[in-house]
Amino acid sequence: MKKAIIIGAGIAGIASAVRLAVRGYAVEVFEANSFAGGKLSEFVLPAGEFSSQIPFYPSTPQPLNPSTHYRFDAGPSLFTMPEYVEDLFRLAGKKPEVHFEYLALDTICKYFYEDGTILHAYRDTQKFAQEVATQTTEKAETVLKFLRESKRKYDLTNEVFLQNSLHKLRNYFTWATVRGILGMPRLQVFTTMHKANARTFGDQRIVQLFNRYATYNGSNPYETPATLNIIPHLEFGIGAFFPKGGMYQITQSLVRLAENLGVQFHYNTKVQEILIEGKKAVGIKIGKDETHKADIIVSNMDIVGTYKKLLPALPAPKRLLEQPKSSSAIIFYWGIKKAFPALELHNIFFSANYEAEFKHIFQDKNLYEDNTVYINISSKESPTDAPEGCENWFVMINAPNNIGQDWDALIGQARQNIIQKLSRLLKTDIAPLIECEAILDPRSIESRTSSSQGALYGNSSNNKWAAFLRHANFSSRIKGLYFCGGSVHPGGGIPLSLLSAKIACDCIE
Ligand SMILES: Cc1cc2nc3c(=O)[nH]c(=O)nc-3n(C[C@H](O)[C@H](O)[C@H](O)COP(=O)(O)OP(=O)(O)OC[C@H]3O[C@@H](n4cnc5c(N)ncnc54)[C@H](O)[C@@H]3O)c2cc1C
Repeated sequence: MKKAIIIGAGIAGIASAVRLAVRGYAVEVFEANSFAGGKLSEFVLPAGEFSSQIPFYPSTPQPLNPSTHYRFDAGPSLFTMPEYVEDLFRLAGKKPEVHFEYLALDTICKYFYEDGTILHAYRDTQKFAQEVATQTTEKAETVLKFLRESKRKYDLTNEVFLQNSLHKLRNYFTWATVRGILGMPRLQVFTTMHKANARTFGDQRIVQLFNRYATYNGSNPYETPATLNIIPHLEFGIGAFFPKGGMYQITQSLVRLAENLGVQFHYNTKVQEILIEGKKAVGIKIGKDETHKADIIVSNMDIVGTYKKLLPALPAPKRLLEQPKSSSAIIFYWGIKKAFPALELHNIFFSANYEAEFKHIFQDKNLYEDNTVYINISSKESPTDAPEGCENWFVMINAPNNIGQDWDALIGQARQNIIQKLSRLLKTDIAPLIECEAILDPRSIESRTSSSQGALYGNSSNNKWAAFLRHANFSSRIKGLYFCGGSVHPGGGIPLSLLSAKIACDCIE
């Protein structure tokens, strides 16, 4: 039986393990943390606990006391493209709905603007377009036309850029690629998302709403090509979902699936080196001298760390590794001792000056005084995530990636600004309602998951050639060495990380 070693139990590492186990490999996953999921993990906080960190392990006290404890998903909160999770169950011959349940959201997001406008982004596009027409000066038909165009862009790019390796010549001789090339003008590669949106919409609030989609892969709408206007189709065309029990269920259900297929997980086990003999990867080294042999190695560690730490003797592809990283984030996890019926599962409180906000994040590498604030409240769908009458707020702002800023000062200032903004817009003093707190910031994102500079999504897509400047899912120099996860092709976010696992495994002969 052939043996595969996976380095890292991030979502792409787990998905690779499932795929290889189904193909008959004996699979072992080595994970530095004491838990699976990497960014896609969870933790629990008791009322009364205030910490500048989040617990480094799932600290679920046994038994969890639902009258005093809050559960938080640590990282991703928005779930799109559930079919990529379901595919893994189907591959293993199991019915996905038996092992992983989720629901489709009718209200994708609720938007709050500084001028008092409130907009519901309904999944039903007619209803959403009508809401826009009622609350703003934009026409319903303009919104519907934009969403139809978003779908066309998605149909042109999905197979070429997302489903297959861009680094295998054979993938360029397909009908999908020809269609993609012929459709280039439609993809608007040479204009920015903001310019395209400002040409489409007359109302600045709607420009801002659709500009926000650049942040779904950590990019800047004022730099990223308008091709990224495919992203709204994912939400409005395909849907936004919520896994029953919270986002961490994605990790847990896939780990269970992998274990059922015989995959062995080794936690608290940091891989030190990938062993190479001749031009072939033959195993890994753990600690000083423990080695494990395998026929293939798949690294789910960030590609920068994979080269710098695990492959020190291999010349690194400098240009690819030095591509600008996506934005990072600061997250305040707050237990709030009050229910807010006016809030939904996903809520955005926009800044009044989006362009200034992004200039601070991407050019000045600091924070603007008025941040766009995202609040995710999983207890809206999963009531046991917070004590009765309370809510678990995941309060996130976009932040620059980590280049050694004075994060403690930035976090302190941001916390004050966010509390003021939310208190004003929700007409309630928020500060006294916070009964427990933990914080995640670019430094801790980097240290918990080895993500280069704490980037949420690997490289940014601010460059129009970004799709071609991500590392391939295989090594062209070392046989038997493959790469998956948000830092390699096709990019970050749960759906693309899952696709990276598929592409890496497809590349294995
Ligand atoms: C705050 C936040 C919010 C986000 N929001 C969303 C969202 O709403 N929707 C969405 O789709 N995506 C979101 N993302 C992005 C998404 O979480 C990531 O793109 C995705 O989870 C990356 O998965 P990955 O497979 O690359 O692994 P990672 O999650 O990066 O995990 C890599 C794993 O490898 C392990 N590892 C690294 N080096 C070693 C080593 N040497 N030895 C052993 N193990 C090692 C790490 O410990 C870690 O567990 C968010 C991310 C964050 C941080």
